[in-house]
Amino acid sequence: MLYVTKQDYKTIVAYCQQQLPFEACGLLGGRVDGVDGYVKSVLFLTNIDYSETHFSMNPKEQFAAIKDLRSCGFVLLGNFHSHPKTSAEPSKEDRRLANDRGFRYLILSLMDAKPVLRAFYLNEKGRLEEEKLVVV
Ligand SMILES: [Zn+2]
Repeated sequence: MLYVTKQDYKTIVAYCQQQLPFEACGLLGGRVDGVDGYVKSVLFLTNIDYSETHFSMNPKEQFAAIKDLRSCGFVLLGNFHSHPKTSAEPSKEDRRLANDRGFRYLILSLMDAKPVLRAFYLNEKGRLEEEKLVVV
């Protein structure tokens, strides 16, 4: 199970809406307790592709963000990106690029008026599987 605070959820949605029509992306820091993850820090990164269907994080920002959250005592839990016009289902490319075990991949769909945020992780077969996400 992955826990995200209401405040962080709102901030992620607001940031992704702000970046429209492009995909938005960022990193998630937090704590791990057994199989559960707790998002404690959200870091917003520039999508240097400026694309409606792809994203690449700015490597410099990525490096600084990881350093920043480690200095706060958090671990890198995963990342998030938005799908401006499609569902919160991992795309073919998302599946191809997902290769970090123990990493959470969050996708926010802005396709409909109501945003949909879903979390995925790599299972033993190396395939993305949904993890229950709870906004608390
Ligand atoms: Zn995607």
